[in-house]
Amino acid sequence: MREHNFTAGPAVLPHSVIKELQEALPNFKNNGLGLMELSHRSPIFDEIISTARLRLRRLLSVPDDYEVLFLQGGASLQFYMTALNLLSPTDCGDYINTGTWSTKAIKEAKRCSKPVCIWSPSRAEFNSTPTENDYQLTPESHFLHYTSNNTIYGTQFSSTPEVNKPLIGDMSSDICSRAVDVSKHGVIYAGAQKNLGPSGVTVVLLSPWAVERSRYIDSIRPGGLPSLLNYSLMVDKGSLFNTPNTFGIFALERMLAWLEGLGGVSEIEKQNTKKSTMLYQILDNSDFWKPYAERRSRSQMNVTWKITDPSLESVFVEEASAAGLHGLKGHRSVGGLRASIYNACPLESVEALVDFMHQFETKNS
Ligand SMILES: *Cc1c(COP(=O)(O)O)cnc(C)c1O
Repeated sequence: MREHNFTAGPAVLPHSVIKELQEALPNFKNNGLGLMELSHRSPIFDEIISTARLRLRRLLSVPDDYEVLFLQGGASLQFYMTALNLLSPTDCGDYINTGTWSTKAIKEAKRCSKPVCIWSPSRAEFNSTPTENDYQLTPESHFLHYTSNNTIYGTQFSSTPEVNKPLIGDMSSDICSRAVDVSKHGVIYAGAQKNLGPSGVTVVLLSPWAVERSRYIDSIRPGGLPSLLNYSLMVDKGSLFNTPNTFGIFALERMLAWLEGLGGVSEIEKQNTKKSTMLYQILDNSDFWKPYAERRSRSQMNVTWKITDPSLESVFVEEASAAGLHGLKGHRSVGGLRASIYNACPLESVEALVDFMHQFETKNS
């Protein structure tokens, strides 16, 4: 039997998708070859990657003149690639620091440009996200980078920042979980392993501005950009400069098909609101629990909390695990508890968790 899986990532996938992957492995669509044994230059794979692009465009209403790439290296490589492709060594990009991932984005950008951190929390707790009134852009910056959902802390921007520069969004842990205005972004990137499939594929959306910047930086940089780190080259090659993660792209395509079958982003957004509300309600209902994130910054994807009596936290994790509820221990940098409830986490899992929490509270208060 499968457990209720609340792991932060790689995370739960729909059972129906896993079945499809399983069936594709030995003999893909009766071609006589398994999915992982096909050339990435074959017509069969071409159809897979084209369909994946098309579905993502439909799901996120990606403007026609934007590019959709499937790369490798995870979101972590995008920390570097965004700065490398959009900035010269003396150019500056603005960064909002809402936690571990933003901190890493700034660190990587420093290797090749002049990032400016324009907001970080007054205390190091990272339990909130800022609004436009809380920061000021640097006049000469080329973009504003933000992490839309902070996986570790359980905070999320409740809306897209309204600024007069292109946005760079790390949406690794909330892409396709809610509607987003792609046109405000120069780049959106996301490792697939939270909301889009297995690890090993990174979705990158590029505006025409971002592609042009990449071409320009490539032209002025001595020797040009390294091929594998060059957005404009990846665009020209349709993500097939070298061998991509063919299995991962197929899995992502099936995840997107599953999401479209459910009714798309607007439908999953309703379900995500319902799931997270159930958890925040129980957390708000008594002093037994202590929700971690500030109310206006609460994440619909990663719900984080503590127990007022911290000695009960390890008991909670242990007993939850024995009850078939997996992956509830908070990230080591925050402690406490965390339930990651991405798109593919079924309502039944959240119901089971809420039931367990009620019982746990009754037993221990
Ligand atoms: C998981 C995560 C990352 C790191 O992703 P990798 O694919 O492991 O590089 C970066 N940013 C956010 C918001 C994440 O949730």
